[in-house]
Amino acid sequence: MHHFRYNGSNLSCESVDLADVARLYGTPTYVYSAATMADNYTRLKNGLAGLDTQICYAMKANSNIALLRHFANLGAGFDLVSGGEIQRVLAAGADIKSSVFAGVGKTEAEIKLALENGIFSFHVESEPEIARINHVAGKLGVKAPIAIRINPDVDAKTHAKITTGKSENKFGIPFKYAAAAYAAAAKYPNIHIKGVQMHIGSQLTSLAPFVEAVTKVAPFAAELKEKYGIDYFSIGGGIGIIYQDALASGSPEWWSSKPEAERPLTPEAYGAALSPLLAPLGLKIVMEPGRYMVGNAGVLLTRVEYLKRGEGRNFLVVDAAMNDLARPAMYDSYHEIVPLRRDTGRPAFLADIVGPICESGDCFAKQRQLQEVGEGEYLAFLSGGAYGFSMASRYNTRNLAAEVLVHGGNFDLINARETFAQQIANEQIPAFLK
Ligand SMILES: *Cc1c(COP(=O)(O)O)cnc(C)c1O
Repeated sequence: MHHFRYNGSNLSCESVDLADVARLYGTPTYVYSAATMADNYTRLKNGLAGLDTQICYAMKANSNIALLRHFANLGAGFDLVSGGEIQRVLAAGADIKSSVFAGVGKTEAEIKLALENGIFSFHVESEPEIARINHVAGKLGVKAPIAIRINPDVDAKTHAKITTGKSENKFGIPFKYAAAAYAAAAKYPNIHIKGVQMHIGSQLTSLAPFVEAVTKVAPFAAELKEKYGIDYFSIGGGIGIIYQDALASGSPEWWSSKPEAERPLTPEAYGAALSPLLAPLGLKIVMEPGRYMVGNAGVLLTRVEYLKRGEGRNFLVVDAAMNDLARPAMYDSYHEIVPLRRDTGRPAFLADIVGPICESGDCFAKQRQLQEVGEGEYLAFLSGGAYGFSMASRYNTRNLAAEVLVHGGNFDLINARETFAQQIANEQIPAFLK
């Protein structure tokens, strides 16, 4: 469920008319709904009510500091993957005491920054990393809390570029070596073994892989509790969102019209399936959702620049491009595209919706059916809150898009559109060329 719907003919976010945002701040602009993010957090938290849980928002999905502050206010910690992300949390006025630090390549400087700021735990991915964390902790005179990321070898049945839990992936330690890795970690004087972690992939749309992975790792977690006194089990992120019927899925009626067997994954179903498997462990349960928290809470607004009528094909050239929203080019992913002004009197047509970048890959949709629109009209890409702005680049010397946060009937600019001067601020021409 989310808070984007047509109010009459106007696409709105909460009580804001999105065309007002487009006119005021221009396009391309990302717009996020504060209420949708709060709902997502609360529904997942309630889905596992009765367990001691900590949601660590995987901020690589969208790391704008306003969103981080919103989640911190709700009680979330963060799943961090770099020193830059630690600094973002601090810049948001939050702390990292409920946060976990993941990733396969943590540097000494990043480990030091995390320890100095009281990180909840490191999620380690290799033995050399444990040795390095031990070394840095020793220099600071502290004990570093860690959990080892176990690769449970479960097929998440998702896109190859976002599956992580199979043995051929670079992530985690294979399940069969996990006991040995813990035994090795226990020998380091500055390491405190605090938990166990797994994360099997992203955009999972069924419960089965989650259930399989938890069922597989839970007995091992119980063993670690016995042996090392661990106090938490992180079950990772990966909860999928709706891309295909994105707009419709904002309404409760759409959900209730679906037979149970066809209903997409909900946080309630996720909690109901996993809680009974997790409760007997008596451990704190850490979750690391990224996409689920923000994906359906954001849209990308764009303006139609040209309607180019090719031979038997229409091209809608819009002012957003693959540098703003990389997912279609990178993962062939689908985003629903709808007009900000709906006019049911107009005919529908088929069009390829493309950006201005000089790459054939700069195509958001092929032969998409939508209401006929032309130059100067606005469109919205739905389900754009996750891995949208955070993956944006400046390819073709395009400025990074603006970001806006809606809250009820109000909206605030939370990231001003980049300027050309900002883009080239660090570039210089060396003396030998002058
Ligand atoms: C990326 C990532 C997540 C979040 O994944 P989503 O699919 O966005 O929920 C969680 N945990 C780890 C370790 C990750 O790398």
